[in-house]
Amino acid sequence: MSQLDKQDPREQFPRPPFPAQTQQGSGLASAMDPPPDHGEVSYLGTGRMRGYRVLVTGADSGIGRAAAIAMAKEGADVALNALPEEIDDLTEVRDVIADLGRTAVMLPGDLTDEGFCDELVRTAVRDLGGLDALVLVAGHQLVHEDVTEQSTEDFDRTMKVNLYSLFWLVRAAVPHMAPGSSIVTTSSVSAYQPQDRMIDYAATKAAIITYTNGLARQLAAKGIRANTVVPGPVWTPLQPISYPGDEIARYGQDTPFGRPAQPVELGSAYVYLAGPESSYTSGTTLTVAGATGVAL
Ligand code: NAD
Ligand code: MG
Repeated sequence: MSQLDKQDPREQFPRPPFPAQTQQGSGLASAMDPPPDHGEVSYLGTGRMRGYRVLVTGADSGIGRAAAIAMAKEGADVALNALPEEIDDLTEVRDVIADLGRTAVMLPGDLTDEGFCDELVRTAVRDLGGLDALVLVAGHQLVHEDVTEQSTEDFDRTMKVNLYSLFWLVRAAVPHMAPGSSIVTTSSVSAYQPQDRMIDYAATKAAIITYTNGLARQLAAKGIRANTVVPGPVWTPLQPISYPGDEIARYGQDTPFGRPAQPVELGSAYVYLAGPESSYTSGTTLTVAGATGVAL
């Protein structure tokens, strides 16, 4: 079965209960049970991004990994960013893409560092020979039950990873982007319905939508498009690093499809928005949330 076969979305991928599990730090895809499907085998490309040169953040695991693999399978060359401690996951992605005969360069580093963001864009442009799409998937979230117990450092990290890096990377990339290029950012359904335990994260995800919409209006004069993907619950390391094991065992159970998305189910959303098929689509959102998204 591939993604291109019609299937019942309720039964297509693993459903809870899952084994209870937690992870430390930024987590690893390779430690998840069941292993996430990032499209390594299941995604079928049809040349929708032939010749594209793309920089992807958060490319080691989860949604960013699925986006990078999908775009490479559609014919793109890809620069891959993640945190240095995630190099094992990142190397797996590099190898999958290299086996497809596409260029994949690993550019690990911390996006909370303004100087690194500049260097990341510069190096990606140098190694790929240009930049046609900037695909920003990296994100940071931490659970805080009580606002009175959250530190400034913690709040600041959420802002830096989710918002400042967006500004820093866009500012560095736009001068290299020719008309026809595009920017894709990543929000969350929690932008519209903030969880009480993650309000700083939800606020950044709302800001990403507004910022990207404004960017689309500004960059239209340069022929550059900008759009946002809005995921619902997805089976990625972000969840076992955030929630207790028994909640992960039930992850996605209370959604209309009764399961979380697998990362591969997000891949074609990034391909569509980054590639040439979405030529008149700018300043909008594409929600991939299994009927958990809001109507307006
Ligand atoms: P993930 O953990 O696989 O990916 C997040 C990535 O962000 C990490 O792999 C890491 O490389 C990167 N990152 C974090 N801090 C960084 C830093 N300081 N410097 C560089 N990279 C850094 O999880 P995911 O679920 O695939 O998350 C991808 C995006 O999707 C995030 O923006 C997240 O907010 C969003 N999202 C996820 C879900 C979900 O249910 N998994 C739902 C809605 C939105
Ligand atoms: Mg990761």
